[in-house]
Amino acid sequence: MKLVIAGGGFCGSILAKKFDSRDEFDTTLIDENGFFEFYPTLPRLLTDPDYESKVRLRLDSFLSDTNLIEDKMEKITPEFVETSADRFKFDYLVICTGANYPIRLDNTEDVFTVNDVTSSLMIHERLERSESVLIVGGGLIGVEVASELAADTDKKICLVHPHSRLIERNPVSASKYAERFLNERNVRLIFNDKVVTNEDNFYTEDDEMIKADIAIWCGGLGFDVSFLHGFDGSIFSDHGGLKVDRYLRLEEHDKIFVGGDITSVSEEKTGHNADRHARLIYQNIIKHSKGKRLSKYQTKEFPLLISLGRKDGIFTFRSFSFAGPLPALAKYILERAAITRLRL
Ligand SMILES: Cc1cc2nc3c(=O)[nH]c(=O)nc-3n(C[C@H](O)[C@H](O)[C@H](O)COP(=O)(O)OP(=O)(O)OC[C@H]3O[C@@H](n4cnc5c(N)ncnc54)[C@H](O)[C@@H]3O)c2cc1C
Repeated sequence: MKLVIAGGGFCGSILAKKFDSRDEFDTTLIDENGFFEFYPTLPRLLTDPDYESKVRLRLDSFLSDTNLIEDKMEKITPEFVETSADRFKFDYLVICTGANYPIRLDNTEDVFTVNDVTSSLMIHERLERSESVLIVGGGLIGVEVASELAADTDKKICLVHPHSRLIERNPVSASKYAERFLNERNVRLIFNDKVVTNEDNFYTEDDEMIKADIAIWCGGLGFDVSFLHGFDGSIFSDHGGLKVDRYLRLEEHDKIFVGGDITSVSEEKTGHNADRHARLIYQNIIKHSKGKRLSKYQTKEFPLLISLGRKDGIFTFRSFSFAGPLPALAKYILERAAITRLRL
């Protein structure tokens, strides 16, 4: 049976690793980047580019029987996936192309996003020539990026957040800890406002002018679904992700599964959830191929680990949080475990 996995990030890599040794599947993994990259550590690369080798793993270093295609997918249709060079038909398809981080400004000059290793290293280079940095957004990524820069550089940092507190989906105690961490390192925090214009300077909705050599946009997720062709419009959710049924199949499609950030499942978009999707999709493809009943996906709340530089962090779970060096250590252990698990 031909299985095509579209995207080799958290979900796609774990899934490909599980199918790699299954002879009954002829598996193809397509990704424009030949590496698995551990995104939760990307903020560290902004100040420590040599850490790159620790968070990147070549896909061919842990996949031996998978057909690896390092190319951009230009078309995904209900029958085939197409790159610039080839067309891949499938019996089963898994779409796990992740999210992107669109910059919502007309002028994107000097504005960057922490998307992957390449973009993080590019920001590192620009930071070496910059004195002041604007961070747009105080959610998980914005706080981690600002903290990394505040802890390890002497840049003048300003963070603008549209809500009244940082990481507002987390307990108030966690927001307060993050705010204190940044305040103590002289980060200027602007709440309840948005960056809306990039001209000679950056301007907020409330007409605050912010001088910054570069801006790092951490303003939320978007989805690139421009490569999907021939599907009914009903598969797209209001947020732009892909609607799935309770078995993580693309709505109305029996043999197309969707995993990771791009699903419409209402839950925190995390590596951990992408990993859970991969494991369920693996089971369900095998069950489906044997005519068995599929397993349902159940959302669950999990703890979050938020880094504040390398030595500090916050653990949150529901209304509980604690902070200090332990969460930072736990996040490091998770990073090493994720890479080691793929290697083994
Ligand atoms: C800066 C940052 C910090 C984060 N911190 C945390 C954290 O602390 N904890 C946590 O759990 N999660 C964190 N996340 C979120 C986590 O990384 C994502 O939830 C996870 O990567 C989603 O997995 P995925 O498989 O859906 O997509 P991804 O891992 O994004 O993989 C998608 C893959 O698809 C490929 N692709 C996409 N389009 C195409 C195309 N057209 N052609 C070819 N290939 C394509 C990409 O190259 C990529 O490899 C963070 C993310 C970022 C960016």
